Amino acid sequence: MVNAPASSPCAAPPPGRRVSVLGATGSIGRSTLDILRHAGPEAAQVVALTGRDNIAGLAEAAREFRAEVAVTADPSRYEDLKAALAGSGIEAAAGERAVIEAAARPADWTMAAIVGSAGLAPTLAALRQGRTLALANKECLVSAGELFMEEAARAGAELLPVDSEHNAIFQVLDRPNRAAVEKILLTASGGPFRDWPAERIALATPEEAVAHPNWDMGAKISIDSASMFNKGLEMIEAMHLFALRPDQVEVLVHPQSIVHSMVAYVDGAVLAQMGAPDMRHAIGHAFHHPARAPLPVERLDLAAIGALEFRAPDPVRFPALRLAREAMEAGGLAGCALNAAKEAALEAFMDRRLPFMGMAQVVEEVLAALSPFGPARALDDVFAMDIHARAAAGARIAARVRASGLGKGAAFA
Ligand code: NAD
Ligand code: MG
Repeated sequence: MVNAPASSPCAAPPPGRRVSVLGATGSIGRSTLDILRHAGPEAAQVVALTGRDNIAGLAEAAREFRAEVAVTADPSRYEDLKAALAGSGIEAAAGERAVIEAAARPADWTMAAIVGSAGLAPTLAALRQGRTLALANKECLVSAGELFMEEAARAGAELLPVDSEHNAIFQVLDRPNRAAVEKILLTASGGPFRDWPAERIALATPEEAVAHPNWDMGAKISIDSASMFNKGLEMIEAMHLFALRPDQVEVLVHPQSIVHSMVAYVDGAVLAQMGAPDMRHAIGHAFHHPARAPLPVERLDLAAIGALEFRAPDPVRFPALRLAREAMEAGGLAGCALNAAKEAALEAFMDRRLPFMGMAQVVEEVLAALSPFGPARALDDVFAMDIHARAAAGARIAARVRASGLGKGAAFA
C-alpha cells in the first residue's frame, strides 16, 4: 500500500528540494515543469531532466531550470544534445544506461513520467533512493506490481500516485480505517468512442483514437483511453498501489471527467475527489504533499456543469477491461504479458498494421498462449516476460498483416 503521510499532516515540504523529472519532454513532464515554474525558483533545485526525441525541448527546459544534467534515451542524439547545451554548463548524456544513472542521482522528489515499460528500470532506480517518487508511469505497477511495491517498502520510499484516478483515491483514502474500504470506483471518461457502435469502432483510425474529448495527453495513453486499455492498466495499478483484491476494483464510466475516482466504505459512504480535468491537479498535489498549495488550474463551477453522469462500462465494445480483470486474477507475470502485448499492438495500430479492435484480439491471444503465468520472483523474470510477450504479439501481428495482404505498403484506414 502507498506509504502513510508524514507525521505533520499539513507541513509544507522544505524549499529548494532536489527534483528530477524523468520523461520531462512529454505531456506529464511538461505539466510537471509548469508546476515547478508556478511554485517559483526557490521551491526546487532541478537535478536531472530526461527525454528522448525532442532534443530542443529538453535542452530548453534544462536551461530554463538550470538542471545539473539533461539526458536523452537515444544514444544517437548525444551530439545534438551536447550542441544544444553548449555554453550552459549543463552536463549532457545519452542512452538507456545514462537515463538510469540520472534517475539514481540523489533527488528528494522525482517525477516518473517516461511512457511504457521503458520507464521501469529508471523509475526503480529513483525509487531505490528511498525518497519521494511521484508516479505517473503506470506500466511499472502493471508489469512488476508486487516487486515494485516491495522495493518501495524496502527503500522506505514515499510513493505518491499521479495518475489522476489513483491520486484521487489517495486523497480520499481513510488510512487509519484501511480495513473499512469496501471497494474503489475508478472513473473513466469512456474516451472518444464511448458512444460509437461496435462496427464504427472497428474502423477507427489512429487520428480518431488520439483525439481525447476531455484530457490532453500523450499519443499512446490517448489511444489506450480510446480502447479502455488505459483503464484496464489502471485497475491493475490500483490493485497494487492500494493492496486491494481484484473484486474490490470497479470501473464506472463518467463522461464529464469531474469525479476523478471514489472510495466506497463498509458503512455505505462513498468519498469522491473532484476537479477540472487537468493533470496539474494531481502533479501539484504530489509536489506539495502533505501541504496544499494554490495551483494554476481551473476551478470547478458545479452549477454551470449542472449534472454528473455515471454508467457501467460496455464489456463487448471495450474488451480491454475484461482482459485486465483476467490478468489481475491470474496474478504473477500476467500483468507484464498484458502490458507488453498491448504496447506491441499499440505500435502496430499507430503504424496502421493492425485495426483498432485487433489490439484487444492480439492481447487476448497472447494471454491465452502464455498462460498459466508464473510468479515474478525477480526483475529479470519481468524483463524476460516483457520480451517474450512482445515477440508473441509481434508474431501474431505479422501473421495478420500477411493474411490481410497489408504487407506491401498498404495500410489500415
Ligand atoms: P508522452 O508520450 O507525452 O511522454 C513520454 C516521455 O517519455 C517523453 O519525455 C519521452 O521522451 C520519454 N520517452 C519515450 N520513450 C522513452 C524511452 N524508450 N526511454 C526513455 N524515455 C522515453 O507520455 P505522457 O502522456 O506524458 O505519459 C507518461 C506516463 O504517464 C505514461 O506512463 C502514462 O501512462 C502516464 N500518465 C499520463 C497521463 C497524461 O495525462 N498524459 C495521465 C496519467 C498517467
Ligand atoms: Mg488515469
